[in-house]
Amino acid sequence: MLEMKHISKSYPQAKGLTESVLKDINFTFEAGDFAVILGPSGSGKSTLLNIISGLDTSYEGEVILSGKPLSKKGLDDYHKNTIGFIFQSFNLVGHMSILENVKMPLYLDKHLSNEARNQRAQELLEKVGLGEFSKKKPNQLSGGQKQRVAIARSLANNPDIIFADEPTGALDSKTATEIMNILKSLAAEGKTIVVVTHEEAYINEATKVLRLKDGVLDAKATKITIKKKKTPVFFEEKKSKSTL
Ligand code: ADP
Ligand code: MG
Repeated sequence: MLEMKHISKSYPQAKGLTESVLKDINFTFEAGDFAVILGPSGSGKSTLLNIISGLDTSYEGEVILSGKPLSKKGLDDYHKNTIGFIFQSFNLVGHMSILENVKMPLYLDKHLSNEARNQRAQELLEKVGLGEFSKKKPNQLSGGQKQRVAIARSLANNPDIIFADEPTGALDSKTATEIMNILKSLAAEGKTIVVVTHEEAYINEATKVLRLKDGVLDAKATKITIKKKKTPVFFEEKKSKSTL
């Protein structure tokens, strides 16, 4: 699904020196992996995630994703549809409705009608338990709800792989658990999930554990398999609960 081959990266420093952030990283993710990337602040987690998700194109080595090498000229149309991304700060567009936010990636497919886009976005919102929130704006939602919208958006193009850079960093621990469990459920559906996180508890639930230190990767596959849940809905919004 995703293969990293000899990935190295240095940032230029003052006085012509360079700082080596990643040193010859080699690793592979399969479909259905729930992979966690851990490491101290500044250890290169985001740098690695940005490279393997095609956001950063200046590095040495090669990334093969869904059978094709990532272009170093930026994400091509093929890979735009195989990748989803979730950010710590949600990155929702404030002036757009929740539905419009989820619809955004669907504009990549010019053949889809607006009606089909609306229907797909609504289904995804229902999947993350936010079917009734489609007309609201991001600032009317809690942090956990915003992240669930971001998850719905990341699923819009039915990507093979979803990258999440500290998706729970801005959330309280109960909400963080909910979000991590949703991501885990996506792996059970066959997606590859790659999460940078400080949630140490998830080390015991991941199929792959990657630790970065001083630019060197210490990674292992675990014996864990993510079991498919009976219900396809990740999260049921409690009707009685306040929405804010
Ligand atoms: P992490 O996500 O693990 O906290 P990062 O990947 O953000 O770490 O950063 C790794 C190292 O690379 C840090 O030492 C950081 O200062 C450096 N770095 C990150 N981005 C840049 C940049 N744009 N220019 C120069 N150095 C950078
Ligand atoms: Mg980071």
